[in-house]
Amino acid sequence: SHSQADETQLAEPHLGAVLASAGLDAEYVRAEGNTLYQRAEDGREIPVLDYAGGYGSLMWGHNHPTIVAYAKELLDAGVPVHSQFSLHPEAAELALALSRIVRRESGYDEPYFAVFANTGAEANEAAVKHAEMDRVIRLGALLAAVDDGLTEAREAVRDGSAIIPDEVFARVGMGSRVSDTAALNELVHHITTHNAAQAGRPPVFLTPEGSFHGKLVSTVQLTHNEGYRNPFKALAAQARFVPLGQPGALRKIADEERAQLLGLEVVDGLVRLTEHEAPVVCAFVLEPIQGEGGIREMPREFVEEIHEVCAELGAPVIVDEIQSGMGRTGDFLAGTRLGLRGDYYTLAKSLGGGLAKISVLMVRSSRYQGQFELIHSSTFAKDGFSNRIALKVLELLEADDGAAYRRAAELGDRLLAMLGSVRDDYPDVVKDVRGRGLLLGLEFHDQSGAPAAPVAEAARAGLFGYLVAGHLLRGHRLRTFPTASAPDTLRFEPSLLLSDDEISWLETALRDTCDIIRGGYQRPLALP
Ligand code: PMP
Repeated sequence: SHSQADETQLAEPHLGAVLASAGLDAEYVRAEGNTLYQRAEDGREIPVLDYAGGYGSLMWGHNHPTIVAYAKELLDAGVPVHSQFSLHPEAAELALALSRIVRRESGYDEPYFAVFANTGAEANEAAVKHAEMDRVIRLGALLAAVDDGLTEAREAVRDGSAIIPDEVFARVGMGSRVSDTAALNELVHHITTHNAAQAGRPPVFLTPEGSFHGKLVSTVQLTHNEGYRNPFKALAAQARFVPLGQPGALRKIADEERAQLLGLEVVDGLVRLTEHEAPVVCAFVLEPIQGEGGIREMPREFVEEIHEVCAELGAPVIVDEIQSGMGRTGDFLAGTRLGLRGDYYTLAKSLGGGLAKISVLMVRSSRYQGQFELIHSSTFAKDGFSNRIALKVLELLEADDGAAYRRAAELGDRLLAMLGSVRDDYPDVVKDVRGRGLLLGLEFHDQSGAPAAPVAEAARAGLFGYLVAGHLLRGHRLRTFPTASAPDTLRFEPSLLLSDDEISWLETALRDTCDIIRGGYQRPLALP
């Protein structure tokens, strides 16, 4: 019962208790680069090396001096921060800069329109809403065209210029009939009933197994993790999760969801039945490299299948680059190396430079529905402060002919080589290391049969990674976490400021952890 609540602990105390149970209830008083500082009882600062990197929001580290200085400058100058419903030249500049980069990397030679939002999930919600708006418009146009055909057939039968052959009746299950107005009315009734049922089907989203697209009402239904998704199933459109590594699986699922509308046309004095593919699949949504799903890159063949199937369905490809984008993998977009072409892109996290909350939905111009802008907005979206901070972040990324991208790739190679050496020395402990650039993961072998009861228990509850995170924090002053939906995989998402010392620090911590695991926990993990 919460009736006896401790009134000093009203900000999600349950979460605090869960963190405490793994020894992760740390308080930080200052942050800089890849370091968070705790305050010791004697007042000294205790540095903690941060490999969680704000879950991907800190490509430039905590409080990057250039970004902080610029933020101060903006505030000192009194730039308008909240001026919703006015012209925002800096937003236009930001949209243009984003569009140029996305155009350069996506392979689509057209501009991308930008709709700004505040969080990652919110940008994905906007993507979902825009895709649904577009689907309903396309469906409406199709129904109107079908209606025109029905009217034309009705008039032709009425004035005797066309007859309805038996096979048309047969195809809607009517049996043999005289071609007269009564039969035509019944035929049209069959068709419109069928069409209403097909057009009324709820939209379906397709997304790979392991996906994470946020925790808001519609996006949580695109998030594979059942713990997050199942309690809210009834609130929003459903996704079908496409297994990875099974060529043809996407096509099979897409075919199961296909719907046909029926229509009539008149050709050479005969009424004929027509079929029209109705858009039921609203969009395919994916992360080029899944973050919360355990740092998993999409296979190239899968990307090709996605392009093909979506082109057939007329459904947009929504590329969620919220965690993988903003230069983290060595390109602005992680999908670039995969040849992925998105109709929509979403960005957030590092777009705000670690200081601002900003996200964006970008839509390729030929698929953009301008009316969307009039029915979707937020008090906080597109604010003058965040827009300018994001522009500064893009300027930093693109400076010196993309030096930051090259740096991310090179640092990532070094970090991955270190992780690989740990895996090679502890193949019995480490199952895999993977990822690209500064988006890396290390997966442990399953510990649910571990000789230490608390460890085995935690592993069975999907919490092994949190025990390791607790050990790394208390034993090594190093902060990271498992990925949200793959709890045996630790994430490493440091900033561009990563140093060799920081790589060695992680290596020491990981080798110590692997020694403990290999030794059957005779020397224990630093449990609370
Ligand atoms: N998409 C992806 C790929 C993410 O990694 C995340 C956050 N982990 C989100 C969406 C949701 O972003 P936010 O937490 O800002 O809502």
